[in-house]
This record gives sequence, structure tokens and C-alpha cells, in this order.
Amino acid sequence: MVADARGNRRGLPSGLSRLSGLLSRCADFLLPPGCAACGGPAARDAGAGGGSVCQNCALGLPPVPHPWCRRCGAPLGTGEAPSCLECADWPDQLGEARALCLLESPARELVHALKYHGWRGVGDFMGSEMARSAPESVRRAHMVVPVPTSGRNVRRRGYNQAEVIAHSLADALDLPLLTCLERRRQKGTQTSLNPMERRANVKEAFVLAGTGLSLVTGRRIVLVDDVITTGATVLAAVEALRAGAPGSIVAYAFARTVPMSLEVN
Ligand SMILES: [Zn+2]
Ligand SMILES: [Zn+2]
Repeated sequence: MVADARGNRRGLPSGLSRLSGLLSRCADFLLPPGCAACGGPAARDAGAGGGSVCQNCALGLPPVPHPWCRRCGAPLGTGEAPSCLECADWPDQLGEARALCLLESPARELVHALKYHGWRGVGDFMGSEMARSAPESVRRAHMVVPVPTSGRNVRRRGYNQAEVIAHSLADALDLPLLTCLERRRQKGTQTSLNPMERRANVKEAFVLAGTGLSLVTGRRIVLVDDVITTGATVLAAVEALRAGAPGSIVAYAFARTVPMSLEVN
């Protein structure tokens, strides 16, 4: 670095400066700066995707509080409700839904890192953690099917986040991954809609690809998504899978929200 006649410091020539910026971005990509949730030093030896998440955050994923519905996994609050309203109208094929943790910190930050910041390794971490805590219904499955995301989102991000998670889960459980669902149409984003609007928006959103029709028949399927909110997306995916007459379906997500009826504040 030198100073010119006016005392302004002159750095690298612009071409070199651009190159230096590029190299620095490459280094960030190759050597992630830290934990995807808290930014602290990340673990380097914690298995698939472990380098993306520090030990504290990995151990601090908030569990879904008991008691929860045995079918849909939704927390039941005080447990005094006579029955769960969340899954009352589910089709028979959808045996149960489970999530590894609640969508609260640090799980929320991890979902954001995977979904919006292109941090793919976080999906590997999620899938391997989900495999480690997989319920019996997931372990007994024949195949893993990811919920598809819109082509626009895949192009922007470079991947379908549910597929990254499903791939890692399938690997860890030694199950085949079948990407047999396709998204049929997309009307805007889900995030700003209320539960009824969400359900209407995603109904018939998916279609079972021709090759998947015979492959799922009579099989036990694990349907994987990053987050379960209202269950509308899961139900739409189940609806599409039913065209192939699967034996049973269990939905398994990294995180879930608390039903709106139980939300405090
Ligand atoms: Zn952390
Ligand atoms: Zn339920």
C-alpha cells in the first residue's frame, strides 16, 4: 500500500483488487466462517454437515414439548384437549408426522441458512441429526421422498432444501431416495398466507411423476421437508403420492412450528 501526492492511499490495482475479493469469497465458501446458527467456531469432526454447526447449537436444538399428538406430533399444550384438531381430517395413508425439533433458535437460524443463504452443508447436518433420532416408523420405511420446491427457488438457491435433507437422511438410514414428486404450479409465496389460504394455495400443488407411480405402490414412504407449519404442504404431497397407492406414509421434518391455537404472546 502506498500514498499518492494528495495523501490518498492507493491499494491494489483494480483488477488485482477484484481478484483478491473473489479469492476471499472463495475462501469463505471453502472454509465457512463459523456456525450457521450462532457464528461461533463450528465443529469440524461431527459427521455429515457437522462443520456447519457448532456443538452448542447441535446440542441445543429445542425439543418438541410433551405431551404431543401421537399421530401428527403437534404439541398439545396442557394435554387437557380431548383430541387433536390438527390431524382430525388427515387421510388414512398418512400414518404420522414427526419433527426433530421446534422451529425456534437455533433451529430457526439453521433453516434460514439452508433456505435463504445457500448454506447447503446445514441440510446434511439436519438429515444426519434426523436419522440419529428417527422414530421406528421412519426406520422401517422402504424409501425417502423429498417435498419438491418450485423451479424458481431451486434456480435461485441451486438446490431443493428438502432434497438435501432427504438425501442425507436416506444415506444415513441406508434407504433409497426417490424424487418422484414434481411441483405443478406456484401461486406466490406461502409465508404471508393464513392457514386456510395456505391449504388452498398448495392443494394439487404436486404431481407424482409417471416413473414414480409403480415404484411407490404398496411401499412405506418417508416424506421429508425442512419445516412443517400447518401441514398443508405435507397433505398436498400425500395427495399426490396417493395416485401411486403407497402402503403408508410418514412425514418427517427437521423442525415444526407450534400450532397457532397454542401460541402464547
Ligand atoms: Zn452455533
Ligand atoms: Zn394430531
